[in-house]
Amino acid sequence: MNNPFIELGIRHDIVNAITELGFENPTPIQEQSIPVLLTGSNDFVGLAQTGTGKTAAFGLPLLELLDFEENYPQALILCPTRELCLQITNDLKNYSKNMKNVSVVAVYGGASISDQLRQIKRGVQIVVATPGRMLDIINRKAIDFSQVQFVVLDEADEMLNMGFQEDIDSILSTTPEDKKTWLFSATMPSEVRRIAKKYMTDPFELTMGEKNTGNVNIEHEYYVVRARDKYAAFKRIVDFNPEIFGIVFCRTKIETQEIAESLAKDGYNADALHGDLSQQQRDKVMKRYRERGLQLLIATDVAARGIDVNDVTHVINYSLPDEIENYTHRSGRTGRAGKTGISIAIVNSKEIGKIRQIERVIGKKFIKAEIPTGFDVCEKQLFGLIHKVHNVEINEQQIEQYLPRIYDEFADLSKEDLIKRFASIEFNSFLEYYKNAPDLNAVEDTRFTRDGAPGERPQRGNRGDFTRLFINLGSVDGFSRGDLLGYFCNQTGIVGRTIGKIDVKGVYSFLEVANEDSEKAFASFKDAQFKGREVRIEVSAAGGEGDRGESRGSYGGGGYKKREGGSYSGGGNRREGGSSNRSAERGSSGGGFRDFSGKSREDRGERRRKY
Ligand code: AMP
Repeated sequence: MNNPFIELGIRHDIVNAITELGFENPTPIQEQSIPVLLTGSNDFVGLAQTGTGKTAAFGLPLLELLDFEENYPQALILCPTRELCLQITNDLKNYSKNMKNVSVVAVYGGASISDQLRQIKRGVQIVVATPGRMLDIINRKAIDFSQVQFVVLDEADEMLNMGFQEDIDSILSTTPEDKKTWLFSATMPSEVRRIAKKYMTDPFELTMGEKNTGNVNIEHEYYVVRARDKYAAFKRIVDFNPEIFGIVFCRTKIETQEIAESLAKDGYNADALHGDLSQQQRDKVMKRYRERGLQLLIATDVAARGIDVNDVTHVINYSLPDEIENYTHRSGRTGRAGKTGISIAIVNSKEIGKIRQIERVIGKKFIKAEIPTGFDVCEKQLFGLIHKVHNVEINEQQIEQYLPRIYDEFADLSKEDLIKRFASIEFNSFLEYYKNAPDLNAVEDTRFTRDGAPGERPQRGNRGDFTRLFINLGSVDGFSRGDLLGYFCNQTGIVGRTIGKIDVKGVYSFLEVANEDSEKAFASFKDAQFKGREVRIEVSAAGGEGDRGESRGSYGGGGYKKREGGSYSGGGNRREGGSSNRSAERGSSGGGFRDFSGKSREDRGERRRKY
């Protein structure tokens, strides 16, 4: 039987190369788009999630259609991030490795422009670029796009989200009118519709699955916990999945850094990826993650854009994204290339309405899951260990010299005794750690869901676990939500991850603190000033039931002494690279996945005591 890619019209030397990459059968998007794109005569809109094989869906036809005897730019691929740019370039080079004279150049910011200019000067047929750097090179008149035949806009929704609309306009204005444009997008908000209309004539449209539907290989689960239990619940979910290789999404850079540091301190193999790290630091973290030297990558939405790592088992939404569309991007990091994956959301009872909104966007129901009990975790870890023993690779040569002594030591034990003892080593320590572990599941309060039956309203006296605070600082004072979180945490010593919703208005803002922290917050803002102005916090009168109409009064006036001398500069307690380096070092010294059986017995004891 013929290779199915040959049947789609792809030539042998390319098919041989992709066979080596393990492509046996086309993915659905490849099957449907390759025959259309191979004609070279259509504009094209493909609505497809990341991880569905769309790079080959447009890459293979491009390799068929371009003339590699000629050495001028014939195809331009625009994508949102440097990571994706490098990934696409690398994929195209792999697909074309048996072809002659193919030249693909990656053009992206944060790297030497002179190297890129040199490569362009040598001659190139395919340019893969992020918009900012591409425009820079065009403005230097260092490239000629007058003979471009194909433009690919990959992850168009992400490019627009990142504000590249004008750059894309400028870049495309340098390409010929009659080129063909192929647009790929995971979601189809109206902005993407608009650019599709603007740049294309009667495009061939392909929707993989339902519009906006998430990848069918991904299961979505949510856990309802009290705000104060969130971190413990998260750790328990991780402990319940000993083989997890996950990406954990947080809302802010500060939260990302804090969670990564807490996890590293608690003996987990985790590190942070966010925009306050230098490119070099980010590359280092990504390299470790890709190579499985890290088990958990804690990331912000922006930093995680374009991450293409296969075999991610879980995406964990430690905090739900502000933009619902971002949930699709987050969860699309798992369940790639036909594998299955789980996307988890850890929410408090008031966020269940948001889960229902996400369900509508992805066209799929979440499963409500229970935080495992301590006993469940012990059992899972124990059998994880047994499984590992079964599959361990034995270095016969090295172990041989010790075997006689080991046999000797165990001579008086039966096989059953030996197994019992061996398993107990781990089991005992887990039992010890989890013996008084509380139930972390919170009661689901449907009164807070937006889907609640008509007439169901939140009632007095049931505010959940948060107190909503009013503060007389807002965007006019230069605060974004992240900044306000930083400032508030710095001032109060309350950890960022326990803070609930933050709502920054013009001259004031609201933020939610765990009920038990509210007194601390008031005490910390007594006498506080910001830029010479008295800072006032109050329990929000509009905070909902229970607090309606009652204010605890405001606190303010006086010094704001702690912050004087300008340590606060709008960035709050943003941590600098140093702390992330520390956790990076800690993580890397641990080697691969966190291992309960290894060297870190003291570490473990500490972690469990801390629990
Ligand atoms: P993409 O959506 O292009 O980022 O592809 C996601 C992953 O699927 C990449 O690692 C590809 O190498 C892989 N892939 C793409 N097409 C196929 C295929 N036909 N068979 C197996 N793996 C594929």
